[in-house]
Amino acid sequence: MKYTVMIPAAGSGKRMGAGQNKLFLKIGGHSILYHTVSVFQEDPNCEEIIMAVKPEEQAVIEEILELHQHAKPITFVKGGGERQNSVAACISAYEEKGIVLVHDAARPFLNSSVITELVRTANEKGAAIAAVKAKDTIKYAEAGAVKETLDREKLWLVQTPQAFQYKLLKEASDSAIQDGFLGTDESMLVERIGHEVQVVESSYDNVKMTTQEDLAIGEILLARRK
Ligand code: C5P
Repeated sequence: MKYTVMIPAAGSGKRMGAGQNKLFLKIGGHSILYHTVSVFQEDPNCEEIIMAVKPEEQAVIEEILELHQHAKPITFVKGGGERQNSVAACISAYEEKGIVLVHDAARPFLNSSVITELVRTANEKGAAIAAVKAKDTIKYAEAGAVKETLDREKLWLVQTPQAFQYKLLKEASDSAIQDGFLGTDESMLVERIGHEVQVVESSYDNVKMTTQEDLAIGEILLARRK
């Protein structure tokens, strides 16, 4: 089943401490952004890529993405101050009614079998998110003191991609903007308008490159893939 992917790539990556957009940092000779987009360039079901970028970075991003052969069309939009605003800019640039995926540019090790399952589930139920089971015991604490130990069997660490029927995502995004609500993922926006979101089990490889330690892990993951 065909889909369009929206990729927010307009962050600054302060936690990486690289002094530049972390997406330009290299793993195995190619930038993080190159690896992330490769997954979609190679997936026959991906029809189009809509990417939110900082206008001053668009030229260098286009240069990076020209390295892909058999390239699919990429529409660039201007990113916003928060991730949610960058995704909203992507949503505004899309006019079709099919399934859309939102995927962080900072997650370069996505497995394409997860995409297939997300698209299938979103088509059937409206919304689906990639997630992995919590490995550690997770506690809820206030002011440094444990208040509650949560039931690990029910805890999921949420990633992207998150897949939606476009109409539902647009409605959720518009509603959040109207109410001044800022979420940390698109699922939250869909949950708050009362629509159930399905969980699709993903892989622990699908890490978000956030700090320097993640880059070292990235090198290992890339080597293992080869
Ligand atoms: O900073 P973090 O890694 O959580 O950002 C997740 C994704 O959202 C990254 O791919 C980043 O480039 C993007 N982003 C964005 N616009 C922002 C902030 C983050 O497109 N204002």
